[in-house]
Amino acid sequence: MMFHTITIIGFGLIGSSLARKIKAEGLCEKLICGDVSQEVCDTVSRLNLADESMTDLKASVQHADLVIIAVPVGAYGKIGNIISSGLKAGAIITDVGSVKGPVIQALCPFLPDDVSFVPAHPIAGTEKSGPEAGFSNLFEGHWTILTPLEGEKKSEAVQKISRFWEACGSMVEIMSPKHHDRVLGITSHLPHLIAYTIVGTATDLEEDTQSEIIKYSAGGFRDFTRIAAGDPTMWRDIFLSNKEAILDVLQRFNEDLTELQKAIRKGESEQLFHYFEKTSAIRKGVIKAKQEIPPVIIGDSRHPELVSGSGE
Ligand code: NAP
Repeated sequence: MMFHTITIIGFGLIGSSLARKIKAEGLCEKLICGDVSQEVCDTVSRLNLADESMTDLKASVQHADLVIIAVPVGAYGKIGNIISSGLKAGAIITDVGSVKGPVIQALCPFLPDDVSFVPAHPIAGTEKSGPEAGFSNLFEGHWTILTPLEGEKKSEAVQKISRFWEACGSMVEIMSPKHHDRVLGITSHLPHLIAYTIVGTATDLEEDTQSEIIKYSAGGFRDFTRIAAGDPTMWRDIFLSNKEAILDVLQRFNEDLTELQKAIRKGESEQLFHYFEKTSAIRKGVIKAKQEIPPVIIGDSRHPELVSGSGE
């Protein structure tokens, strides 16, 4: 048994998927759910996802050797403030937030010296949310990135969290928080911003003929609507937290888009062809790196939409 008691704060898609996996693998003796929502706690009890569930977050962490924070990144400061005096000496705190630098800054001031914090981010998800949306093999074959605090890279807590994610089916990578936020800015946050924009623009343009959008949405637009269906609170918090990296990659994206715009206007067919040839090769690289798994391999017919990057 890896831990005696694990508390997960925030039992949404990620928290409840972890809970299912923890139970399936027997990674702890006791699993506790802490969520501010009574409705979420009731669902957790009804689905038997945890041994206990409670809205009192401070009480929920009191006996935990491992506390996993799985709430939207904008809520970290508030959570830190509530749980800090309830944490057990020697406990490990980890999280699943999609942004790392800002959440470290938000949480660390509240954490006592006798606990360890190991920031983490599983690169797996769907556009669904809530405890009923989770499933135990969500992390299977996907990366989880750990971004240890200064000087902690080889600490026992980091090694333990590494083993924990491996037991959840993940492959583990370690990088600095700043590097993580930049990489995810381009691979996840920017694509979501583009999807939100495209769906928003199309809806504005065709307000009177929305049926047309739905009717012809079997093409690329359909994929964009799925990406743009992510939880609004979660995505608002991600964009506001990872502001610097997102604005930076957005600037570069705008420059490239302007180049393409120019090439189309001037009829530069060679340039367009080479550009698309290059991006098509990147798609092959993504498949080779197994970052897109066909739904049939995942083997969960409830989640045919599951591909890496469909969540965050
Ligand atoms: P979710 O399904 O919306 O679940 C979030 C849960 O946290 C909900 O139960 C929510 O309760 C609860 N919550 C919200 N504010 C809270 C607070 N102040 N205190 C306690 N509980 C609170 O979200 P999720 O998709 O699991 O995302 C959770 C975290 O995982 C986020 O930090 C996100 O960036 C990260 N992440 C998400 C994905 C993805 O694809 N979804 C992938 C990787 C990482 P209510 O329902 O009552 O609001």
